[in-house]
Amino acid sequence: MATDRERAIKDGLAALVIAFRADVDEPLKRVYLRVLNDIAPAVVTAAADRLLREAGRRFLPTPAEWIERCAGVIDERRAAMALQVQAMKAKCAVREAGDCVNDFVDTEVGVRRCECHRRGLEMMRQVDAPIARPALPEASEVV
Ligand SMILES: [Zn+2]
Repeated sequence: MATDRERAIKDGLAALVIAFRADVDEPLKRVYLRVLNDIAPAVVTAAADRLLREAGRRFLPTPAEWIERCAGVIDERRAAMALQVQAMKAKCAVREAGDCVNDFVDTEVGVRRCECHRRGLEMMRQVDAPIARPALPEASEVV
């Protein structure tokens, strides 16, 4: 029984194989399953869709290229959510009253984080945590 993660990887790979007229044997399929298995299925699917739409792409992505696109999807989702958090904080009633300064509020028992800060953290937790991009080859390092 395939998990949601396995299904997302297999479906994405199937589409990529068809689009790029590639052959994928079982060992290679296992490599993709192994390296993409810790990434959320929706992210894996969105990254596969991007690879399908990439102008100029002629070959199947390497596992590292697929991970890199996943990282891009997550970064964009986090940036979009960060904008929503910013908009939410701008409407903070405590801030509008002038009492919420940089997410902090003065209380009788000392300075505390404002409620909008906690809500903002909750909103950011709804999106996937950023993932590390695969390392670039040593030759691409600029000294
Ligand atoms: Zn606030």
